[in-house]
Amino acid sequence: MSELLDKILGLITAFKAARKAAKRKPKKIGKVAICVGHSRIGDKGARSVGGISEWVYNSEVAKLLATQLRQRGIASVIIDDYPSESYSGAMKWLSAEISKHNADVAIELHFNSFSTSSAEGYEYLYYASSAKGKKLALCIHQAHQSKVASQKDRGAKPIERKDRGGRFLTSVKPPAVIGEPFFGSSPKEWVLLGQSPAVVADIYATGIFNYFK
Ligand SMILES: [Zn+2]
Repeated sequence: MSELLDKILGLITAFKAARKAAKRKPKKIGKVAICVGHSRIGDKGARSVGGISEWVYNSEVAKLLATQLRQRGIASVIIDDYPSESYSGAMKWLSAEISKHNADVAIELHFNSFSTSSAEGYEYLYYASSAKGKKLALCIHQAHQSKVASQKDRGAKPIERKDRGGRFLTSVKPPAVIGEPFFGSSPKEWVLLGQSPAVVADIYATGIFNYFK
């Protein structure tokens, strides 16, 4: 009789432990502000050779990225509307918005564009004085390098506030990176990555995951 009781008590203990484990949330390893470049009123950014604007393309990348981050235990918020007509107004609003969401890092999604179709390659920009921004840029750059070997490598680049993208990188509080994973003006790169937003999302997700690791 007591043997049976022991077994029942054992089962109850195991059941309670299992229920407790099931309730435990996965460890949150970080939160990312996914900012879609050119979200300011009236600004859609460059248009690719495929006829798609940066904003439209990167809105898709942002959704895929949020899913891929969630699968890696990383929370995110997508910001694809900066309600201001002026650039400085948009950056001010964005900075407050990112702080409101308590994001640990921020990335702004773009693609490059040039007047000649031969310009190509990927680059990731960070604020020169931010060590963590540099680490984030290097992690994403490394992920890109390992996943797309055939592309021209323009590097992870330190920039200053006055440079292109500098206002975003210096306006937001957390470590930040601007992603330029290809040239939308290059037919070759548009076929390679423009038509594969999931590959670009995977590069960002892998790099961000490695940053938090
Ligand atoms: Zn852009």
